Amino acid sequence: MTVPDGAACDDAPRAFTTVFGGNPDGTWCAPGRVNLIGEHVDYAGGVCLPMAIPQVTAAAVRRRIDGRLRMYSMGFDVVDVALGDRVDGWAAYVAGVVWALDPPDFHGADIVIASEVPVGAGLSSSAALEASVALALAGLCGLPVDDDGRNVLARACMRAENDYVGAPTGGMDQQIALRGRAGHALLLDCADGHVEHIPVDTAAAGLTVLVVDTGTGHRLVDGRYGSRRAAVEDAARLLGSPLREVDSVSALDDPILRRRARHVVTEIERVHTAADALRSGRVHDLGPLLDASHRSLRDDFEVSCAELDSAVDAATAAGALGARMVGGGFGGSAIALCENDDVPRIEASVTAAAEAGGFPSPVFLRATPSRSAHRC
Ligand code: ADP
Ligand code: MG
Repeated sequence: MTVPDGAACDDAPRAFTTVFGGNPDGTWCAPGRVNLIGEHVDYAGGVCLPMAIPQVTAAAVRRRIDGRLRMYSMGFDVVDVALGDRVDGWAAYVAGVVWALDPPDFHGADIVIASEVPVGAGLSSSAALEASVALALAGLCGLPVDDDGRNVLARACMRAENDYVGAPTGGMDQQIALRGRAGHALLLDCADGHVEHIPVDTAAAGLTVLVVDTGTGHRLVDGRYGSRRAAVEDAARLLGSPLREVDSVSALDDPILRRRARHVVTEIERVHTAADALRSGRVHDLGPLLDASHRSLRDDFEVSCAELDSAVDAATAAGALGARMVGGGFGGSAIALCENDDVPRIEASVTAAAEAGGFPSPVFLRATPSRSAHRC
């Protein structure tokens, strides 16, 4: 990435002074994430294993007493509304959090956003934005910010994205942004919000989790994500139990529904296997699980695309221990687990494959497991 880590925490208050004048009451930030494994299982009540990345979104916030909400994000426009007014576009992610959290004794705010998380790259810039605003509101309004409090904030952020923005995401992104821990992945049970912090010592293993942003934006609100979610819900209804409790999907007659459900069931198994490997420090063992996850997302869930397949295939061909698309799909990013020494060769191979395919030039970043939302 060209943007240095932590720059957003300085940029947000600086932009605040330029745009609104004076100083913010404080600045809070929240990270983007990569999901090591467990894709498209959150809304099925399954388990997933995301980790926070070093890139953050920062929110510089000053309280107001006149019932107005003024919002600005660098690279976007200023939005100035009365508290409670309906907002569209990027500012819906901010106003949605205010709406969902409904903090006590809150009468408006000036909010300025700066971010290092690539937008629409499958690295969860949306949840980083929501979580930075939620933690800021919690800090300013005295809401609890221990782990239980952060679970409450994460759920409010999810409601904001589901019910206010209208993107049917399943909660993983908000949970990792608010509850992750440096040096750890978060084993998250999406059914009850239970978490286990599992160490991921890639440095000791001599490994790098390489993120490939394919430069092809994904769209969660265009219906394809929602249709996958609906298929998972249909399958569970037909099978008579949530997919996390299902061993076999053979009772499903519809071949498409059967493949969708098979992805969820096998992916949840892979998450448990991956968590076991990490608990005993076997980071290398993630490789084949990443490969299997990608095949399942590509063939059974059908949420990959040519750019993602190209990145995954090229990384594997150049020696990655495993690789897969991450995030909602249809574009966005992939991850590759690489021996440190192999990273330059794998990057070159992925870039060459994109060029040969006529795809955008990919952007790389190295994901070290980082801390969750905090005051800057
Ligand atoms: P992802 O979360 O994978 O980056 P999404 O489609 O879920 O992709 O969310 C991207 C949307 O979130 C953007 O289109 C924009 O509306 C909003 N967003 C994210 N980051 C910012 C930001 N720094 N400033 C303004 N809006 C943002
Ligand atoms: Mg998102």
